[in-house]
Amino acid sequence: DELTNLTVAVRVRPMNSRELAYIGATNIVKTNQNELIIHSNSNLSMSTDHIFQYDHVFWSCDESDKNYASQECVFSTIAEPLLANAFRGYNACLFAYGQTGSGKSFSMMGDMCSNMDCDKTAGITPRFCKRLFEKLKEIQDTITASIELSYFEIYNEKIHDLLACNVGSNKTALKVREHPVWGPYVVDLSVHVVNSYEEMKERLLIGNKNRVTAATLMNEKSSRSHSIFSIELNLSERLDENSSSRRSKVSLVDLAGSERLGNLYNNEEKIREGVSINKSLLTLGKVISALSEYKKGNIFVPYRDSVLTWLLRESLGGNSLTSMLATITPANTHIDETLATLRYACQARSIVNRARINENPHD
Ligand code: ADP
Ligand code: MG
Repeated sequence: DELTNLTVAVRVRPMNSRELAYIGATNIVKTNQNELIIHSNSNLSMSTDHIFQYDHVFWSCDESDKNYASQECVFSTIAEPLLANAFRGYNACLFAYGQTGSGKSFSMMGDMCSNMDCDKTAGITPRFCKRLFEKLKEIQDTITASIELSYFEIYNEKIHDLLACNVGSNKTALKVREHPVWGPYVVDLSVHVVNSYEEMKERLLIGNKNRVTAATLMNEKSSRSHSIFSIELNLSERLDENSSSRRSKVSLVDLAGSERLGNLYNNEEKIREGVSINKSLLTLGKVISALSEYKKGNIFVPYRDSVLTWLLRESLGGNSLTSMLATITPANTHIDETLATLRYACQARSIVNRARINENPHD
């Protein structure tokens, strides 16, 4: 087994028009390589700098800035290494964490969530799919590949297949089960074999369209669900002798907004949704906290307390190489949420995963 820490990156988005229109709104975030500094001066006599360190810090506030981190830069820094590892037979997981409106979906999917043309606004997921098929093409003479994908969301602790034919009409919730060898999986989740980037892109677009979206006070387009795009990669070497196969599972996860209930939810329906969103995110926090205190010996990690953490078990402290992208706004108006996100992200850095190559010699 290979022990690796969770890779944690933070991305700062530009101020939006609402923030810019707010009187007294200022940008309180500065970056210095992989250091992020929050300058809080709410009380002039008590101004404080909070300094955080991560594996990567992406400054995406101002395109004219020489340190500006583009979609391609974010992809190549945190997602491309996972793709390379997937080809070596490691599982991989990347999840975006942050308050609603901070840039999770922009980073994971791209603007409008339908821009798959891999122009400069395309996010990590379409780039990942495109690069995957480019890499397969490079090795096609010696490797036979099969690619399967699934796309689902967790909403109110219930799993909905975003690619099932009956999606929308008959939204039956799917269940999680524990396979004795392969671990937790979603029963009856549709699995789609794809042979090209075009086919993958088609599924992505369908799934994005099916995502439950609802207006919130902060961002009309943002979602209160967690979405998980899952790719299974099987590679077989076509050698005369010693031929072997490698298998990797990649999960690209766009989490629901991390904000506290009170700020955002004001009616019964929303509170109910909020409670269960919190259940998955709350449990994710507990799991991260338990894993970050992991020393020797066994400790209890409450993976099973939520659907999200149960399904991500292998990705959190298990057989996976995992990265977290925390997204924040630079505006002083959200400093409390921003600090909460940054602290959460810091804690996640101390998680250690035990990744191993999934390799089977042919019989
Ligand atoms: P979330 O998914 O975290 O709720 P979004 O990704 O939907 O947030 O982002 C909210 C808004 O901010 C969107 O209109 C999006 O286009 C914009 N935005 C987010 N990140 C960036 C960025 N890095 N550069 C430019 N615009 C961004
Ligand atoms: Mg979103």
